[in-house]
Amino acid sequence: GSTGTVALVTGANKGIGYEIARQLGELGMTVLLGARDPGRRDEATAKLRAEGLEVHPLTIDVTGEESVRAAVARVEERFGRLDVLVNNAGISGGTRQTPGSVDLGVVREVFETNLFGVIRVTDATLPLLRRSAAGRIVNVSSGTGSMTHMTDPAHYFTDSPSFAAYPPSKAALNMLTVQYAKQLRPLGILVNAIAPGPCDTDFARDLGRSLPRTAAQGAAVAVTLATLGADGPSGGFFDEDGPVPW
Ligand code: NDP
Repeated sequence: GSTGTVALVTGANKGIGYEIARQLGELGMTVLLGARDPGRRDEATAKLRAEGLEVHPLTIDVTGEESVRAAVARVEERFGRLDVLVNNAGISGGTRQTPGSVDLGVVREVFETNLFGVIRVTDATLPLLRRSAAGRIVNVSSGTGSMTHMTDPAHYFTDSPSFAAYPPSKAALNMLTVQYAKQLRPLGILVNAIAPGPCDTDFARDLGRSLPRTAAQGAAVAVTLATLGADGPSGGFFDEDGPVPW
């Protein structure tokens, strides 16, 4: 077992997840750097260790039953519990999701990662989170998952492309967050969704977009919700300015 706070971040080898891992490490947490590819996992782990952070590599593909099962078994064996789970791994699905010419395979892939992956990882880690004195779950969602934002003519998300997979996957993730928060409230486990804001990562670059925020700025929102006190909110949706309208 470990006496300090043990945190798992999925998709932590780059982008926002990597910065979440770094910032949790800087707070003194023991960070399990989740990544599906062993090479990228080890490279990212080595970089954060070189900064003096307590980071451990963990292979976890959120779409793989066996991968998730094996990862949880490793955490149990090595640490005996989990205090913080950040469900960050996510994919955009690219451009083959324009209403009218949707590739349903893309929609399935996006939901498999962004929604089913979160259910798979959260359910598998729950026995370990239950052993924590202060369990926290943060689901990395998106402002594009907000019905209010997406239907507000004044809001900048109105300018985002019409996509049939990604925004629906994040809207569903938001509702999932509410359901888990209700279920886990009696256990003292706080569950919230966050919108990191439009950050310049491979995610955005692959869609040909250059976004104004750094990954570190986006990560800070997740860190705030990962470090809530016992009286903190649960079942909410937040960005750096506070609650986001659903
Ligand atoms: P990146 O593409 O930079 O990073 C995504 C991470 O998720 C990578 O580490 C990737 O691993 C990992 N990943 C993808 N699929 C899986 C999988 N099946 N199992 C495990 N890991 C996986 O994107 P961002 O950092 O920008 O995105 C992080 C989160 O933030 C996502 O959930 C995204 O939807 C959300 N977000 C991002 C915004 C932005 O503007 N960038 C805005 C709003 C939300 P690999 O390197 O192996 O591909």
